[in-house]
Amino acid sequence: MNQIATSVVADGVALITLDNPPVNALSAALRQGLQAELKKAFGDGEVHAIVLLCAGRTFIAGADITEFGQPWQSPSLPDLCALLDDAPKPVISAIHGTALGGGFELALACHYRVAARSAKVGLPEVNLGLLPGAGGTQRVPRIVGAEAALDIITSGRQIKAAEALSLGLVDAVLDDAALRDEALSFARRIAADGSAKPRIRDRADALRDDRPELFTTFAAANARRFKGFVAPAAIIEAVEAALTLPFEEGLAKETALFERLVASPESAAQRHVFFAEREAARVPDIGPETSAIDIASVGVIGAGTMGGGITMNFLNASIPVTLVETGQEALDRGIATIRRNYEATAAKGRMTTAQVEQRMGLIAPSLDFAALADADLIIEAVYESMDVKTDIFAKLDRIAKAGAILASNTSFLDLNRIAAATSRPEWVVGLHFFSPANVMRLLEVVRGAETSKQVIATAMRLAKRIGKVAVLSGVCDGFIANRLLAPRGGQAEAMMLEGTTIAEIDRVLVDYGFAMGHFQMMDLVGLDVIGRNATERTVMGDLVTAGRLGQKRGAGYYDYDDKRRSQPSQVTESLIKEVAAAQGVAHDPTPGDDALLARLLYPVVNEGAKILDEGIALRASDIDIAAVLGYNWPVYRGGPLFWADQVGLDKVVADMRRLEADHGETFRPAPLLVRLAEAGRGFGDRP
Ligand code: NAD
Repeated sequence: MNQIATSVVADGVALITLDNPPVNALSAALRQGLQAELKKAFGDGEVHAIVLLCAGRTFIAGADITEFGQPWQSPSLPDLCALLDDAPKPVISAIHGTALGGGFELALACHYRVAARSAKVGLPEVNLGLLPGAGGTQRVPRIVGAEAALDIITSGRQIKAAEALSLGLVDAVLDDAALRDEALSFARRIAADGSAKPRIRDRADALRDDRPELFTTFAAANARRFKGFVAPAAIIEAVEAALTLPFEEGLAKETALFERLVASPESAAQRHVFFAEREAARVPDIGPETSAIDIASVGVIGAGTMGGGITMNFLNASIPVTLVETGQEALDRGIATIRRNYEATAAKGRMTTAQVEQRMGLIAPSLDFAALADADLIIEAVYESMDVKTDIFAKLDRIAKAGAILASNTSFLDLNRIAAATSRPEWVVGLHFFSPANVMRLLEVVRGAETSKQVIATAMRLAKRIGKVAVLSGVCDGFIANRLLAPRGGQAEAMMLEGTTIAEIDRVLVDYGFAMGHFQMMDLVGLDVIGRNATERTVMGDLVTAGRLGQKRGAGYYDYDDKRRSQPSQVTESLIKEVAAAQGVAHDPTPGDDALLARLLYPVVNEGAKILDEGIALRASDIDIAAVLGYNWPVYRGGPLFWADQVGLDKVVADMRRLEADHGETFRPAPLLVRLAEAGRGFGDRP
C-alpha cells in the first residue's frame, strides 16, 4: 500500500480511492498503488465488487507526461488494463471532473463506468501527436462504432457526461454530490445480480455495420485538417485494426503505432509546444509572493481593428470595458463590429442571443477620457504614432486613478519613451495583442525598463483569465514575434524581385505547414494597412496605387475569384519586373524547395538567436511559442528554434555562411548560433 491508493471494504464492496494531487495523473506510484489495491481486493473473500474513485477535483486526468519518451515503469498502464481484463470481480469506475487520456482508457478497461453529471471524458492524445496507447483505439470503436470513434480520437474533444451516456461510453450519470454513495449502491446491485463482468473487448455489436471504405473516406474528408500531422493517420490505422483484427492483435498494432508516434519529430514538436506554453508563464525574478492587482474594470482607447478585438476578450471574461474614441462615428462603427462578431458566433449556434446582449451590455462607450478615471487597467490601441501615443499617456497620467495599470498595444514603438510621458513609468506595460485580437492566443507582455514586478505579475495572470498565453518580452523594435518574422517577409520580397514567382514562394511556406504563404497573408490583411508608412517605391506601394488592396478588393498580389481562390496576376508580374529593373535587381530565381526554405526561414532562426542573446526573450521556447501562437508557425514543427535544432545548428550555420556570400548580412550567423553550433548544442539543450 502507498499513500496514493487506499481502500476500504464495506457491505461486500471495496472502495479504492486514488489521491495524487492536483489532477491524479497516472504516475508510476499511482499505478503501483492501484495494482496493489486491486490485487488485494481480488483476493479478499469479503469483496464482491470494486469501485474506483478519485479524491480531489477530478478522476485521473491523464498520463504523467513527464514519462513520455521514457520506458514505462512497471506496471505500465497497459499492464493495469490487462489486470482489469482478467479481474475475477466486477470493477466500476466512478468518474468526476475530467477522465482524459490514460485515465479514460483505464475506465474503459473496467466493467462499468458511472459518471457525475458535470464530468467529461475524452482522449486528447492527438494534441500531443500521439494516440491512446492503452486500448483506447480498440475499445472505443467497440462501443460507438468506427466512425464515431474516429471523430472522438482524432479530435481529442471532451465529451460531457450526458453525451457519453447516450454514446454508451458510460453506463449511468449520477448527481455530483451523490457520486460516491450511488456508485457504491450501483456496485452492490451488480454484485447481487451475480457479478456480471461485461468487457468492452468482448463486444463486436457496434462494429458489425462498419464498412471498410469508411477509413479512406474519413481520411480524405479531413485531409486539410490533418495535413502535416502524423497522429491522425496512425489513429485511423489503429481504429481500422479494431474492425479487422482480434482484440489482442489490435492492441499490439496500437502499441506499435504508439511507439512510432512517440519517436516522430512531429510528436516531439507538439510536446515541446505543450510544455513551452506552460513554461512561458514563469518569470524567474517574479515568484508567487508578488501579488497581482485585482482587475475588475478595463478601459480601452481606440475602437479600431485592435481596440474592438481587445475589448471582446474582456467582455468574454465578464469584465466591463469603457471604450473611448475621438469621434461618435468611429465609436459607433467599432461597437457595431463587436456586435456583428458576436452575432456571427450566435448564428453558428456557439452563443445564445441573451449572451450577445449580456456581453454588449458590459461596454460603456464614451468620447471623454474622464470616463477612464476608475478603470483598473487602461489599454491604448490607437494609431501607431509616437506623438499620438505620448500625448495619450500624458493625458492618462492626469486622469487615471493611482494604482491603475497603463498599457499600450504598440507593435513597434519604444515602450520606455511612451512610459516617460507619464510620471509613473512603473505602472506602464506593453500588452501586445495579435490580430484578430479576440482569436489569436498570443499576448506579448512587454516589460519596460521601469515596469514594476506587480504590474508584470498582474499582466501574466490576467492573460490566463482571458484565455491568452502570455510571453514576456523586453523592449526592442517589434518585440518578439513581429521582429522574429520580419526577415521572412524581407526575403520573400527579395526573392520575388530576383524572379522567383510569388506563387512558388507561398507554396513552399504552405508545404512547410503554414496555413498560407507570405503574399497570401499580405492580401488577406490588406496592402493599404501594411504599406502605410512606405517611403520608397515598392511592389506593394504600386499595387495600392493601382487599387489592388488585397482580398477585400478581389485583387492584390494575386487575382481572386468570387470564391476567394487566388490566381497569379499579369498586372503583379509586370509590376514586379518594373520595380526589379528600377532597383537594378538581377534575374536570379532561387532554385528548389530547400533553397527557398533556407532563404525564408534561416533568417528567422537567426533573429531568434539574437532576441535570445539580447535577453529580449527569457528562453528559447518562448520564442517558439510566439511564432506558433502569433504567426501560426506549424505546431508540428515546434517553432523556429525547435525546428533549427532538428535540422542541426551546424548545418544551419554552414548553409547560412554560404548564403551570406551571395545575399549579404541577413545571413551572417548570429554569435549565439555559432557558439551553440560549435559546442554541438541546440537551443533546447540546457547549458
Ligand atoms: P486602427 O486604425 O484600426 O484603429 C485605431 C483607432 O484609434 C481608430 O478607430 C481611431 O479613431 C482611434 N484613435 C486615434 N486617435 C485616438 C485618440 N486620441 N483617442 C481615442 N481614439 C483614437 O488601428 P489598429 O490596427 O487597431 O492599430 C492600433 C494599434 O494596435 C497600433 O499601435 C498598432 O500598431 C497596434 N497593433 C495592430 C495590429 C494589427 O494587426 N492591426 C496588431 C497588433 C498591434
